[in-house]
Order: sequence, then structure tokens, then C-alpha cells
Amino acid sequence: MSIKVSSVEEEYRWLRANPHRCPDGREGEWEFKSQALTFEAHDELSVKCKTCGHETVFDFDISSKFPQELLDALKEMGKQ
Ligand SMILES: [Zn+2]
Repeated sequence: MSIKVSSVEEEYRWLRANPHRCPDGREGEWEFKSQALTFEAHDELSVKCKTCGHETVFDFDISSKFPQELLDALKEMGKQ
């Protein structure tokens, strides 16, 4: 399952808003481990629950933010 976001900030907001439901019923804050950007404009965040140690990967779909960034990059190249 991928989560549609429009910015990296939104990814971190999503992580804070969706804590781990730990097996013992507590809510665990996600600790950031690593990040991998795929060619399909998906940002895979590896995280670990600070409370119970559960590790998982969240797949964020950031393709919606790409067109404007590409345009900006092209504009920058055009200035040179
Ligand atoms: Zn947990």
C-alpha cells in the first residue's frame, strides 16, 4: 500500500499522526532508519517503533510533487 503525499514534510507528519499500535496496546513513536527513493517516484521510509522495536517500511507516493520540481530544475538550467 502506498500513501500519497505532496512533500517530504507530509511524510513525517503522516508518521507522527499514525503511530505503531504495539502488541501490548500502547502507541509507539516511529524512529526513522533509512530512506530510499525509487524510480517510480516512491519514497520508501524504513522505520522502527521506539516502544516495541517493530520495524516496517512505509511506501510514500510522491509522484504528484515531481512535475513542478522538474519544471523548476529545467528553469534553473535555462538560466545558465
Ligand atoms: Zn510498537
